[in-house]
Amino acid sequence: MNVANTTEGRIRKVVIAGGGTAGWLAGCALAHQFRDQLEITLVESEQIGTVGVGESTVPPIRAFHRFLQIDEQAFLRAVAGTFKLSISFENWRRPGDRFIHPFGTIGQGTWATPFHHFWLDSLRRGMPSALGDFCLESVASRGDQFSLDTQPQVNYAYHFDAGLYAKFLRSKAEAHGLRRVEGKIREVRQHAHDGAVAALVLEDGQVIEGDLFIDCTGFRGLLTEQTLHTGYEDWHDWLPSDRAVAVQTESVAPPVPYTRAIAHEAGWRWHIALQHRVGCGLVFSSRHMSDDEAHAKLLRDIDGPPLRDPWLVPFRSGRRLKAWNRNVVALGLASGFIEPLESTSIHLTISAVVRLIQLFPFDGISPALVALYNDVSRQEMEHVRDFIILHYHANQRDEPMWAACREMALPESLALRLRAWRERAHAWQDPGELFRVDSWTSVLMGQGIQPGPPHPLARAINDADLRTLLARIRQPVQQAVAAMPSQAAFIERYCKAPPGVWPRASALA
Ligand SMILES: Cc1cc2nc3c(=O)[nH]c(=O)nc-3n(C[C@H](O)[C@H](O)[C@H](O)COP(=O)(O)OP(=O)(O)OC[C@H]3O[C@@H](n4cnc5c(N)ncnc54)[C@H](O)[C@@H]3O)c2cc1C
Repeated sequence: MNVANTTEGRIRKVVIAGGGTAGWLAGCALAHQFRDQLEITLVESEQIGTVGVGESTVPPIRAFHRFLQIDEQAFLRAVAGTFKLSISFENWRRPGDRFIHPFGTIGQGTWATPFHHFWLDSLRRGMPSALGDFCLESVASRGDQFSLDTQPQVNYAYHFDAGLYAKFLRSKAEAHGLRRVEGKIREVRQHAHDGAVAALVLEDGQVIEGDLFIDCTGFRGLLTEQTLHTGYEDWHDWLPSDRAVAVQTESVAPPVPYTRAIAHEAGWRWHIALQHRVGCGLVFSSRHMSDDEAHAKLLRDIDGPPLRDPWLVPFRSGRRLKAWNRNVVALGLASGFIEPLESTSIHLTISAVVRLIQLFPFDGISPALVALYNDVSRQEMEHVRDFIILHYHANQRDEPMWAACREMALPESLALRLRAWRERAHAWQDPGELFRVDSWTSVLMGQGIQPGPPHPLARAINDADLRTLLARIRQPVQQAVAAMPSQAAFIERYCKAPPGVWPRASALA
């Protein structure tokens, strides 16, 4: 590689280190978009393997798949995928409690006044209902129903087998000319004059040179941290969970169209139902639960027989100080990790890949674009971080971990949002934020934070008009859900994975 290429020259050779979900998402998108302009190589090591979790997503993944011209039915068959309309939060506010955070629009507001103000005022006037009654995805979730044929249409995401998804993306990327190299990276070579990365040296002696490197090596951050020492901002003081123990089980019931997030005394547990199995895991705070306790608790709480031995995944909540440092862009777990709640990591990777494509440094790395990229990456992560902290903070549970979360000092950005909610029922949203007003409202109400008085416009409408407004929203929701089959029946017809797509249980063990 020409030394001048690292910061000033043209970028032609892109090297992706790592072939987990992040590496293959990046590889697939870059090869799809820039197949004629770039030479793209991806290095992965089967010996090291991937983190093996990350099977629940959020709706913007569908737009990304459209950009990649992915056929939905073929994709779902290939990854044994199911649909996700919401997240079911169980035992969060207190044991025995449940609320749904749906993906769809809740009700119908005006540009000045989101719907929840009208709904809150209807409660004040003695017209009882649940917020979820006004949301198609909530009502469909309650009945385990799904369809793509209703009017209005559902907003949804997917659950998929992470291993099969990487395989699916790999076949697309290779079809677009990406070169995959199997091997373990032994050394990362740097240019003497500026410290930028020059090449990866593999254990078998291969040297892979590049102009731009994408670090998708997972938590180890082989390029960004172990080589460039980028630094990490730790969010552990706000987010107590720092470990997970994961397992896969047989399905003992038809798949539900939502991720289950079930709180326990020292964290929470996920349940992600796929076509062929269930992905489960127990997320916990190591200050409040030992690995052995977590392991035993997980095996006690799962519904079906395990298909393989549980595995431990330690993590450190926070973000890499610069997502893009010199000629290294860190993606996926190498760039930071908030925690699995609300399933945002794959989304943040996709968003970063799109941003990289939009700002791609063909003519050399521009400090201004790097600064812009890093600033937007930071904002995105902080927004999601605040939303996740809210789930931990707003609880009425008795155990020490939960009591500490209630007492903790919040980031000022979240504290301001909570004041706006408590004083005037506002769930504020900046334009670029992943979680919209309806998401904040669902969780704020679900976790039991009392709102202040609703917007004066909602208070101004008379009783009869308010009743009509609510009925006009609720009726089409009820009609649409009444016409929906169960998710299991819909999958059978639409995207049933053929036998043999997934490894048999014995091969997984
Ligand atoms: C407990 C848990 C649950 C999660 N649940 C969700 C979820 O539901 N939804 C969601 O969106 N996200 C979730 N995530 C995050 C999600 O798992 C990741 O975003 C996603 O899997 C991407 O991981 P990755 O590709 O960055 O890293 P990895 O999967 O760890 O991949 C790293 C790659 O780098 C390679 N590699 C590393 N070192 C070397 C080397 N020296 N030489 C060659 N290759 C190397 C490895 O072989 C591998 O291919 C979860 C994370 C955790 C920890």
